[in-house]
Amino acid sequence: MSDKSCSSVGIIGAGIQGVCTGLQLLKKNIPTTIFDQNDPGSMASYGNAGHFSPYAVVQLNRPDILYDVPKMLLSSSGPLALKWNYIPKMLPWILRYLKNCNKKSMLHTAKYMNQILSLSMDAYEEIFQEIDMTNLVEQKGIIYVWTNKNLKSREMEIKIRKDLGVEQKILTVKEILDLEPKLKPVFSGGCFYDYAYHAKDPQGITKKIFELFLKRGGKFIKQDVKSVNQTGTNKTIIKTDEKDYEFEKSVIACGAFSKKFTDQLGEKIPLDTERGYHVHFKGMENLLSRPVIFLDRGFGLTPMNQGLRAVGTVELGGLKNPISKKRIQYIVNCAKELLPQLGEHEDEWLGFRPTLPDFLPVIGPSKNNQNIIYAFGHHHLGWTLGAVTGKIVSGILANEKTNLDLSPYNSLRFN
Ligand SMILES: Cc1cc2nc3c(=O)[nH]c(=O)nc-3n(C[C@H](O)[C@H](O)[C@H](O)COP(=O)(O)OP(=O)(O)OC[C@H]3O[C@@H](n4cnc5c(N)ncnc54)[C@H](O)[C@@H]3O)c2cc1C
Repeated sequence: MSDKSCSSVGIIGAGIQGVCTGLQLLKKNIPTTIFDQNDPGSMASYGNAGHFSPYAVVQLNRPDILYDVPKMLLSSSGPLALKWNYIPKMLPWILRYLKNCNKKSMLHTAKYMNQILSLSMDAYEEIFQEIDMTNLVEQKGIIYVWTNKNLKSREMEIKIRKDLGVEQKILTVKEILDLEPKLKPVFSGGCFYDYAYHAKDPQGITKKIFELFLKRGGKFIKQDVKSVNQTGTNKTIIKTDEKDYEFEKSVIACGAFSKKFTDQLGEKIPLDTERGYHVHFKGMENLLSRPVIFLDRGFGLTPMNQGLRAVGTVELGGLKNPISKKRIQYIVNCAKELLPQLGEHEDEWLGFRPTLPDFLPVIGPSKNNQNIIYAFGHHHLGWTLGAVTGKIVSGILANEKTNLDLSPYNSLRFN
């Protein structure tokens, strides 16, 4: 435990980043209040695929994707889709993203994702020891399957992971079927991370961490935050419809909704969203023992307490467009391709991954307001990175020294 180095913190957002940061601050004896107009963990931190993926160092900013994107966009039934009405707004993000689809950026992202991913499970283990995790997580590994169509891409990913020391086990079709005998073998090979955990109820886990936060003296204010400002050296104001709240320091941890605040603070951070979907096949969770991801389709299946969750795809379309029935149908079709015995689905859900064009999160102080700290933009890996982000951000707030190189996550990279 460190000395009390900050008198109070207000956190905007009770997703996995906000809640883990709050808990870590209390461990440092720093009084903390979390704001959210919704229940804790009810947005992206609810509907994700539940993978704890410390191995997922290679992200979507990669040169090989440039060959696939045009094909994917022309097909209405591929893993990537666009809401055309949003594309003019998203064009600057897309152009920046395309600029990052080169080998150098890809390896930079992989290196600095690896820096935090490699610490992610230790950070969760520490929290899991303090809460009752019965029926909330399982450690049965995670399987990725693929066809031979994009073998060059698969080989590239495997090599980058190997170079970074990530443990992975390449599987034949037979080995995959030995692990998951109910799968229809529409794939040609795969990869197994046998040490990986998966969540059986992501929101249930976030709620448990949140309950511990409250038990330790943390406060929660269920209000929609309108603005945050630094008004003095040691003074920030979080403004809601009802009141102004004063803290020494504040944190923006609103996932895909964080841009409203960074725009207000005068910083042009190109945060946007990759929309993702899920449905449940109720009572079908026993068909699989562990998550299976079909890489060619950009989708996966996770056995959860709510049922078998079919989840994934990327849709570029902003925060306001309605749910796309075509995307739901795509996921349902993909699920039935792997498990033809599936019947009717329920719970059609749309969620928002918070994503920067270089596929690194933004963690660190705001450019113009050193007492306002950013903790957002964790794209496809925000569930995995919640606990370690909490540790890093609470360390920044407490003015602690770190051996980590945090500069690649700083928002200054966009200025
Ligand atoms: C389909 C899908 C599958 C995914 N699968 C995985 C996976 O398997 N593994 C993995 O590691 N990651 C996965 N992710 C990514 C992961 O879910 C997210 O990166 C992560 O949940 C983001 O957490 P967060 O706390 O930043 O944001 P969120 O969970 O979105 O929380 C942000 C919070 O901020 C609040 N907020 C917003 N505006 C305001 C305001 N004005 N005032 C107060 N509060 C506000 C919201 O209500 C919300 O509660 C997936 C995401 C999706 C969409």
